[in-house]
Order: sequence, then structure tokens, then C-alpha cells
Amino acid sequence: MDLHQNLIGGEWTSGPDASENINPSNTDDVVGRYTRADAEQTRQAIAAAKAASYSWARSNPMQRHNILQAAANEIMARSKELGDLLAREEGKTLAEGIGEAGRAAQIFSFFAGEALRLAGEKLPSIRPGVEIEITREPMGVIGLITPWNFPIAIPAWKIAPALCYGNTVVMKPADLVPGCAWAIADILKRAGLPDGVFNLVMGRGSVVGEAILDSRDVDAVSFTGSVGTGKHVAMKCAENMRKVQLEMGGKNPLVVLDDANLGIAVDCAVNGAFFSTGQRCTASSRLIVQEGIHDKFVDACIEKLKSLVVDDARKDGTHIGPVVDQKQLDTDMNYIEIGRTEDNAKLAWGGERLNRGTPGFYLQPALFTETTNDMRINREEIFGPVATVIRVKDYDEALATANDTPFGLSSGICTSSLKYASDFKRNAEAGMVMVNLPTAGVDPHVPFGGRKGSSYGPREQGRYAAEFYTTVKTSYLLP
Ligand code: NAD
Repeated sequence: MDLHQNLIGGEWTSGPDASENINPSNTDDVVGRYTRADAEQTRQAIAAAKAASYSWARSNPMQRHNILQAAANEIMARSKELGDLLAREEGKTLAEGIGEAGRAAQIFSFFAGEALRLAGEKLPSIRPGVEIEITREPMGVIGLITPWNFPIAIPAWKIAPALCYGNTVVMKPADLVPGCAWAIADILKRAGLPDGVFNLVMGRGSVVGEAILDSRDVDAVSFTGSVGTGKHVAMKCAENMRKVQLEMGGKNPLVVLDDANLGIAVDCAVNGAFFSTGQRCTASSRLIVQEGIHDKFVDACIEKLKSLVVDDARKDGTHIGPVVDQKQLDTDMNYIEIGRTEDNAKLAWGGERLNRGTPGFYLQPALFTETTNDMRINREEIFGPVATVIRVKDYDEALATANDTPFGLSSGICTSSLKYASDFKRNAEAGMVMVNLPTAGVDPHVPFGGRKGSSYGPREQGRYAAEFYTTVKTSYLLP
């Protein structure tokens, strides 16, 4: 089987080690072999990015546009194939995989346009004859560290703005899913990106990630992953006074009020909590339900869950694929056990390990009812197909419960009341608010990010991405 190599200074290069990329729907299926860099090879990639930095920062914006647009076009043209690779390496369904590949293409396309739209400001000075100009410049070398759950969209939403604004990149994808990141590297190389502008270093967080954090030649780090790793990344960046952006976990509430449309509320809850196997930072893991609709809502959710097929991610008719690996499955099962032992909490549906035609990490989605917001299953991110129902008496209690969490990524409400919808939009302590929509599922051209323990630093995506990927300069001129 061919070895997929790292891309360093425009050359495909092997590291000292390699890993097998395993299909979570069928652990007998090896998706591919991928090299793993060590610290020395990571330093070479950083040196290549630094060497390419001066000329790329001064490159013609039309050149940047053309390369990003060519990448967008190829990703879109190959979205079925890339979506299949994604479903095979991560375990998301084929439809979700193809959708995510399409989203990556849209993001590249958006930033292709942005490359031509970078504007500054000119202001009069308070001193006679002096002109002031405010411009945005690239940061320099950006280290990108990404998680496994969106193997193509998250790399895209970091790589595209980094390149658009004239930065060079050293990217480390999650060790579990190198395939999609390797495909993007290959596409960018063939799209005509100059050598060294984008470097791919696959491998372990403790080796490659640490080498990126330790380097004085990396000017900014954009990280998406767990809170624990994020805190470590932030501390290391603070030591070097380096700009950092962190996107981390969630424990996202979906409030369902008595006046909600029951069908919409159930669709939002089941989609938001369980699709993509619940492995989304924006998953609706806490369903906060008003007492008048509570029983009908729970019954309808269970009916819906009974109809969902958990099976091989790439099989026709599958709604929910496997959990990503044994470690995440163990975490999910452990939390299901914790939930079972909480006083009063009831496992109303699912939570069992499932056997299918192939050896894979299959888990029946689990729904807990009669839970309270202080239980561990309501405070800690599980990151699997496990959701809870919390019964509340009115809107005020629902809002307070929704906000009573260390996280603040996405927050949703299902209601037909304009008054409650408006109040929730204003008072939900989250970076993103959804009304009559699942907490997961966002547009590619608008800011993405959260508050509290979910995010740190400037927002990602849309025009707001410029806040992180550029630095502002104020120039004074007396002609
Ligand atoms: P993780 O923290 O285990 O790993 C994330 C990345 O950090 C990986 O590439 C990993 O190899 C790397 N890493 C690990 N140790 C490192 C170290 N010492 N130094 C540098 N890098 C290191 O997270 P994960 O399990 O891959 O992803 C799941 C988490 O990501 C969940 O908490 C989820 O909520 C979060 N997530 C957040 C968002 C968001 O935008 N808020 C999006 C997707 C996923």
C-alpha cells in the first residue's frame, strides 16, 4: 500500500514513522498508510514556511484568488470521492461526508473572493497635513492544529483564510484522520501554490503539535480540539507572546417551549444531538424541555430514534455511522454508565453496543430523561451520541439552565413566540444562537465561535477571520 507523505517545502517527504488509517465502520479496512513526522521534520516544515513567507506576503492578490478558487473547484468537482474518503476514515455518513466536502469547497471559494477585497482605511490626522493609513498585514507563519471530527471542513476554514491574507502555513491534522488533510495538500500543490507556502506535517500531537508550539518561528497558532489540549496550547503560546485562537468543546442546550411545533422540535433535537454520531462541538447534548410538552416530546424523540439505522457509514440507508474509535467508544460507554448511576436519571432509549456486519464501533444513540443540570452527564462534554432531557417549568428556568454551563458555543430554542425567541437571542450566553433550527449546522460565510470555555481569541470564518490572520498597522505620513 502506498505511503502518503508529508509536504515540506514543496517536496513529498517521509517521516521516521507511519500509521495505518483505520475505517471505524470496519476495522479490517485500512484506508491508507500515512507517514508521521518527528520534531526535527516539523522544524524543517516551519523553516520552509518561514522561507516562503516574504514573497507570499507580497504576492499578487489575483494569484492568491486563482489558487484558492482552483482548490475550491477541484474539491467541489471531487466532493463525492472526498466525501467517501471522509466517511471511510471518520465514520460520518456518506451524505454528511459529501456535504462536508462541499462546505470545504465553499469556504475556499469565499476566501478566494476575499483575497481581492482586503481593504484598509485612510483617515485625516489631528496634525495639519498628516495622512493616516490603517492597513492589515499577514501574521507570518501560522501553525494549524485540527481535530478529527471535521476532517476536511476544519482544515479548510483555517487554511483558506491563512493563505488568503498572505500567511504561510504549517498544518498538523488529527492523527486519526490524515486522509482528507493529505488530499487538500495535494490539491493545493497542484493548484500552483508556491513551494513552502503550505506544509503538511502529519503525526502525533505530543510530537508534531509540541514542535509547532515550541518554535519561535511560528507567529500564530489556530487550534481546534478539546478543552484540555486547548488550555495547554494557550499556555505555551502565552509563554512566547504568540497570537492564539482556540475553538474547543460544547455542552449545547436546545430549549423546547410548550408553544413549539412538536415536529420541528423533535427534528432539531434528534438531528442536533445524534447526527454525525453526536461527534460535533455544536451537538445539542442538553434538551431543556418545558413541562407542558415534555412527555409528548420525549415519546416522539424515542419514536424517531427507533427509526434511525446505525450501520456502516457508507451504506445506503444508514442514518448514524460508528463512533470514531475504541477510545471514544469507551468514553461514551463510561458516561452512559455514569448516567445510569445518577439518582433518578433514566436511560429512556439506547446506549447499547451494537453488532453489525463488519467489526466497527457501533453504538445505539442514548437518551437520558429525568436528569438535572448538576449531573456529570449535563456538565461534561461527552462527544458521542448521548443526550439528556432536563424538565423545566417555564421560559425563565429554561434560559437560566441553558446558560448554567462552563461552555458557550451554540444555543438553540424551539418556540412559536416572537417574544421568547427575541429574548433568547439576546440573553443566551453563546457565540451562536439558533431559533427553530438544530444547534449544529452553520453557514460557511459568517463568523463561527463561542464564549466561556468553548472559545478563546478572535472568531473563525467569514470576514471576521481577518482579525486572527492579519495584524493591523497604522502609518502616519507627512507628504
Ligand atoms: P484533541 O484536543 O485531542 O486534539 C486536537 C488536536 O490537538 C489534534 O490534532 C491533536 O493531535 C493535537 N494535540 C494533542 N496534544 C497536543 C499537544 N500536546 N500539543 C499540540 N497539539 C496537540 O481533540 P480531538 O479529540 O481531536 O477533537 C475533539 C474535540 O474537539 C472536542 O472537544 C470537540 O468539541 C472539539 N471541537 C471543537 C470545535 C469548535 O469549533 N469549537 C470543532 C470541532 C471539534
